[in-house]
Amino acid sequence: MEGKSNTARYRIITDTGGNKYRFFCALSGAAICTTKPVCGDTQEEELKIAWEEGKQYFNHCHKCGNWVGDAMYNADVFQCVACAPWEARPEFCSQCGTKISPGDTFCKECGSRLRYMEVTI
Ligand SMILES: [Zn+2]
Ligand SMILES: [Zn+2]
Repeated sequence: MEGKSNTARYRIITDTGGNKYRFFCALSGAAICTTKPVCGDTQEEELKIAWEEGKQYFNHCHKCGNWVGDAMYNADVFQCVACAPWEARPEFCSQCGTKISPGDTFCKECGSRLRYMEVTI
C-alpha cells in the first residue's frame, strides 16, 4: 500500500504530444481518468501538471490518505470505503423506515440520501 502518496496511482501513456497520465482508484483499481498529454522538463513536473487535471475526479480519504473515485468514497465521513465500510450504513432508512439493500446510496422508497449512523470527523 502506498497510502499517503501525493497523487493517485498512475500509469504513463506515451503520446505524440507528450505523456498522458492515467490515474487509478486506490481501492477498486479502476481507471478514473486519463489526462490530456502533458509536457514538463522533468517527470516530477509532468506528474504535477497531470495531477492538477486528474485530482478533480478523485476524493482524498482523510483517514488513510488514499485517493479514490466517487464509487469508493463515503462523502458523509470524508473517508474511503476501506476506512468507513458500507457495512456501517444503517439497515433502515432514517426518514421512512424502509429496509435498505446493501450498496444503496439513496432510499428506494423516499429518495433520501442514506447516511452513516455515526459521523466520526
Ligand atoms: Zn481510507
Ligand atoms: Zn426512505
